[in-house]
Amino acid sequence: PAMAHEGDDLRRKQREYLFPNLATLYEEPLVIVRGEGKYVWDDQGRQYLDAFGGILTVSLGHCHPEVTERVARQLRTLQHVSTLYVTEPQVRLAERLAGLAPGALKRSFFTNSGTEANETALVVARAHTGCDDVIVLRHSYHGRSMLTMTLGGTHGYRAATPVPGVHHLASPYCYRCPFGLTYPSCDLRCAKDVEELIQTATSGRVAAFVAEPIQGVGGFITPPPEYFKEVVSIVRRYGGLFVCDEVQTGWGRTGTYLWGIQHWGVEPDIMTSAKGMANGLPIGWTITTDDIAQSFRHSTISTFGGNPVSATAALAVIDVILEEGLADNAARVGRFLMDGLKALQEKYPCMGDVRGMGLMIGVELVHGGKRPAPDLLNRWLEATRKRGLLIGKGGLHGNVARIAPHLNVTRSDAEIMLRIMDEAMAEVQPYMEV
Ligand code: PMP
Repeated sequence: PAMAHEGDDLRRKQREYLFPNLATLYEEPLVIVRGEGKYVWDDQGRQYLDAFGGILTVSLGHCHPEVTERVARQLRTLQHVSTLYVTEPQVRLAERLAGLAPGALKRSFFTNSGTEANETALVVARAHTGCDDVIVLRHSYHGRSMLTMTLGGTHGYRAATPVPGVHHLASPYCYRCPFGLTYPSCDLRCAKDVEELIQTATSGRVAAFVAEPIQGVGGFITPPPEYFKEVVSIVRRYGGLFVCDEVQTGWGRTGTYLWGIQHWGVEPDIMTSAKGMANGLPIGWTITTDDIAQSFRHSTISTFGGNPVSATAALAVIDVILEEGLADNAARVGRFLMDGLKALQEKYPCMGDVRGMGLMIGVELVHGGKRPAPDLLNRWLEATRKRGLLIGKGGLHGNVARIAPHLNVTRSDAEIMLRIMDEAMAEVQPYMEV
């Protein structure tokens, strides 16, 4: 590991040579030098229990032995030739995924990131429908390209880079209902509003409705159970495809099922994923039906997409998730964590909302009158870090803690997480303004 003074040097150089939007989570950026299983270590040798796993990428824990072993073998066999040729890991992965994806989803296209997976999905949807109008949710995050930043309803990206044809719908955010209503007497007004949006803001037809089953960067905003059925059935009446972004919710993250959308009982026309798919190696994935895929015959490939190394990692991740029943583990330990956090909520009024599913739990911090409290979240982040726990941040106002440990987290790991979050919150609560 690097020496302490090297850490300071890295922090200084980070600020000098990298874009300023990076490494902003803590007051003093954390320098990570090593990871193994549930832990990472910083430049001073301090150990942290990781409950954010590289923003939900390191789904099996750091440097998982089976993934590492199979990737190392592949690195010695074939690293890259591009999608101009047939390579075994990519074909095996596509075949595997056709068996695991919902409904009739069958044909895959691989890229290197979630951003590209969503770009691909939208190009396909527009090509297939011959229509450009896309409906997307506020508080969503779909990536960092011009199109996906326009889609994103978080962090004010959109104003800087609008792409035509993108229309934003209020999200199913019950804690702060955009219509000031309460579920279930609201009668899903937020879903039904899509019809008026289509009638007033589009050509009258729709290429796609794009959404995350639970909004990730937006702060783990979790819709009412009937939301997706309602909104997707309206969109389909206007010819639109449902593009489901499983970048954060996929791979058992939400518990019980492999895909977040399975909780909501709707089958996507196009689905995307990335992040946890290869335990930290870069891969993006778009899958659609045979019929829809036929609309994409443009002669363009992704140079690195589905390269043998990333595809091998993804195959190893799938094997481990299925063999070890990790979606069920996510449901079980997630329930325990959720119950524990709800109990803490009784003690700390600044924990305004605790929500999510499986190992995707959001805690929205507020001052009196539900005023967003990003200052309290920053204090909680610092106080948990000091005690050796890493959690994440999200939400339009940066006031939602995101707790999303590796899928093989144990109940005793969760107990430690809860104890640290409790102790840290005792330090934060006094700063709540009433
Ligand atoms: N979709 C969702 C739901 C995401 O959370 C992210 C990343 N935060 C992306 C897409 C973009 O993925 P990437 O950073 O790999 O481009």
